[in-house]
Amino acid sequence: MPLVTSKELLIKAQKEGYAVGAFNANNLEYVQAIVQAAEEEKAPVILQASQGAIKYAGLEQVVSMVKAAAEAVSVPVVLHLDHGTDFLQNVRCLRAGFTSLMFDGSALPFEENVAITRKIVEIAHAVNIPVEAELGKVPQAGEISFEELKALMTHPDEALRFVEATGVDSLAVSVGSIHRMQVQEAKLDIERIQKIRELVGIPLVLHGASGVTDDGYREGIKAGICKINVATELNKAFTRGLKEAMAEFPDEVDPRKFLTRAREEMKKVIRAKMRLFGCSGKAKSFSPGVPGSRGEEGATLKDFEKE
Ligand SMILES: [Zn+2]
Repeated sequence: MPLVTSKELLIKAQKEGYAVGAFNANNLEYVQAIVQAAEEEKAPVILQASQGAIKYAGLEQVVSMVKAAAEAVSVPVVLHLDHGTDFLQNVRCLRAGFTSLMFDGSALPFEENVAITRKIVEIAHAVNIPVEAELGKVPQAGEISFEELKALMTHPDEALRFVEATGVDSLAVSVGSIHRMQVQEAKLDIERIQKIRELVGIPLVLHGASGVTDDGYREGIKAGICKINVATELNKAFTRGLKEAMAEFPDEVDPRKFLTRAREEMKKVIRAKMRLFGCSGKAKSFSPGVPGSRGEEGATLKDFEKE
């Protein structure tokens, strides 16, 4: 089916107590792996591109590739911007055909984050495209102490003020996870997730999930996480598949042999995550949101009276 927006997808996940997997794609094989895995699992899926991925693959190429892949399957597919760090990037993606946006103003002072988020929400909502924002900082892996991590976490009262002031559709929260973590050692602050969820009401997003344990995921989802981002683990699966195939066939010159293995490795990871997040089988009986549909209920005779 044509690309859908993330709004209904996440609200349904919130109501039914599961999370939608949001997988970062960097090239054709990622797109194929993500969309094929979703079709096989009968799962709704969010395919997301970071600014780095957009630079790597080209904005129009990303949109064309994902659109074509989505239209070939029966499950709902969203094309989401991951960590758009400025207003322009969001507008460019909106214009190019993304069906879900993210503005990450978490490095900015609160009021500035609110102001830019608000502006993007206003523009995106005019064409029925939802926006994710980030409050509190999900740090990158490296030297960070528990005390430092705690200081970066999302404050529930601030989250409420932020959501009310911006009108965002979902919120990425800092609750103990760390980006690009290689080992599963992150400890989620479940109480904090619950508190934020109770106050803000909108779907919550978990970034930096590669360091979270399987039990951590389950508890986080129960507490209110509705979208979980997966990037590092896909990169690892791709590279592992590539390396293994190259070692196995050292004289092979056809790269498709290696890339096929890389794609298969990614698919395994994606399907396992979908089952873990509870979104497998959830694509059935689904009425997705459609971009650009706001305020287009169809003309009546009255519309022409003043012309
Ligand atoms: Zn992130």
